[in-house]
Amino acid sequence: MLKPKKYFSNHLLLTDDDIGDDHIMTSLSTPMRSDAFDLTDEEKMAKIEDHFREIMLTMGLDLTDDSLRGTPKRVAKMYVQEIFSGLNPKNKPTVALFENKYGYAEMLVEKDITFYSNCEHHFVPIIGKAHVAYISNGSVIGLSKINRIVQYFAKRPQVQERLTMQIAQELCEILGTDDVAIVIDAHHLCVSSRGVQDVNSSTITAYYGGSFMKEAKKNEFLQYLHLSSKTNVTEVLQS
Ligand SMILES: [Zn+2]
Repeated sequence: MLKPKKYFSNHLLLTDDDIGDDHIMTSLSTPMRSDAFDLTDEEKMAKIEDHFREIMLTMGLDLTDDSLRGTPKRVAKMYVQEIFSGLNPKNKPTVALFENKYGYAEMLVEKDITFYSNCEHHFVPIIGKAHVAYISNGSVIGLSKINRIVQYFAKRPQVQERLTMQIAQELCEILGTDDVAIVIDAHHLCVSSRGVQDVNSSTITAYYGGSFMKEAKKNEFLQYLHLSSKTNVTEVLQS
């Protein structure tokens, strides 16, 4: 049997199991193989379908059952085309920038962006909300694009710290500014549905760049997050 790999962190030796259960990130970029895109999406789906069928068979499931027969194919399609589609740079949203013609100089905050991701240590869902702010450096980005950038990086096997940093890095690059802030608040199903089975805890991560490192800007951003927001148009129109 292979001995678990050891990692150094804060003078402690961590095993693969520790890394999984404590959700420790080992790098900012998603660890990818050099041959990650040698196969086409169709080839990947065919391969994943075969492997997932093996997993189900190994667990003793009867795949001649009508309900289970199509599951390996469905899972393969869902992995490649939906929940892990953010692994492939070809799915990265293309972003057009606009000139900040109205000279808006304050922060723009887009809050409560709901996302679904998956924990890379257990492959079960992370469900959360991302709150994103930036101050224009001359150009502005379409609001839906901020949402799409969050979704793109969420659709990978993730750890929350890396998701936060990857969104921040991307926005800084696109907008040509360091004035970007992000708060992510998420529930990890690997913490609630298994392991310590804590259904109440949530995990918060944050990034504050440029002028958001100053207390006043950071506090202004955080105050906006506490403003109650209407969740749907009907609610707003009725109020
Ligand atoms: Zn996990």
